[in-house]
Amino acid sequence: MRILIVEDEKKIADALKKGLENKSYAVDVAYDGQKGLDLALSENYDLLILDRMLPLIDDGLTIAKEVREQGKNVPILILTARDTVPDTVQGLDIGADDYLAKPFVFAEFLARVRALLRRRTEIIGDVIEYAGLSLNTDTFEVKRNGTNIQLSKKEFALLEHLLRNAPQIVPKENLIDNIWSFESDVLPNTLEVFIGYLRQKVDKPFPDQPPLIKTVRGFGYKIDEM
Ligand code: CA
Repeated sequence: MRILIVEDEKKIADALKKGLENKSYAVDVAYDGQKGLDLALSENYDLLILDRMLPLIDDGLTIAKEVREQGKNVPILILTARDTVPDTVQGLDIGADDYLAKPFVFAEFLARVRALLRRRTEIIGDVIEYAGLSLNTDTFEVKRNGTNIQLSKKEFALLEHLLRNAPQIVPKENLIDNIWSFESDVLPNTLEVFIGYLRQKVDKPFPDQPPLIKTVRGFGYKIDEM
C-alpha cells in the first residue's frame, strides 16, 4: 500500500511517515500543496493524507477537489485544526472521505488509515463492483454473486451512486441532489422509501450474505460489507 502525505509541518509529516513505515506502508511526503497535487495526480496512491492548511495551494480541500475532477477514486483523509472542523465537514462533499482534527493520537490516525484502505469499489469499464454486488451502467444489469436483480430506474440510480462511493458514507442531501431533479416532489421520506425498496431487492434475497446497505443515523447511507 502506497500513501502520500501532504503536510507542511515537517515534524508532524515526518512522524506520520515514520509511524506508517513501521506498519509496512510505503510513504511519500510533500511539504507544500503544489508538490502534493503534482504527486497525487502523477502517481498511483492507495491513500492521500492532506493537511487542510498548506503553503502554495492553501487548502488540502482544493487538492481533494482537483484529484476528484481528474477522475481519481483514491481515498482521501483530511487533517484539520479543531477550529476549521465545520468547514472541513462541509468540504467532505467535494470528494474527501474522512477528516481527523489535530492534535490526534497515532492510534486514532492509524485506525482511520486502515478503514480508508479497506476494500473499495472497483470500476472496470462500465461495471462497478463491490463485495460481490455489480452494476453495469451500459446494460443496466445488476447482479449479486451472479444472481440477477431487477431494479427500477430510480433504484438503479440510487444504487449506482451508493456503489460508486462504497464503503464511504453518502450524505442524504447528496443522494437526493444526485437522484432527483429540482422539479420533482421529494418528500422528506422519499429517500427512506427507496432505500427500503433497495434493501428488499439487494439484501433480503441473500440471507446468507452480510447486508450491504447501511443507515448512518442523522447523516446518510452507505454500502459497506463490514
Ligand atoms: Ca498546515
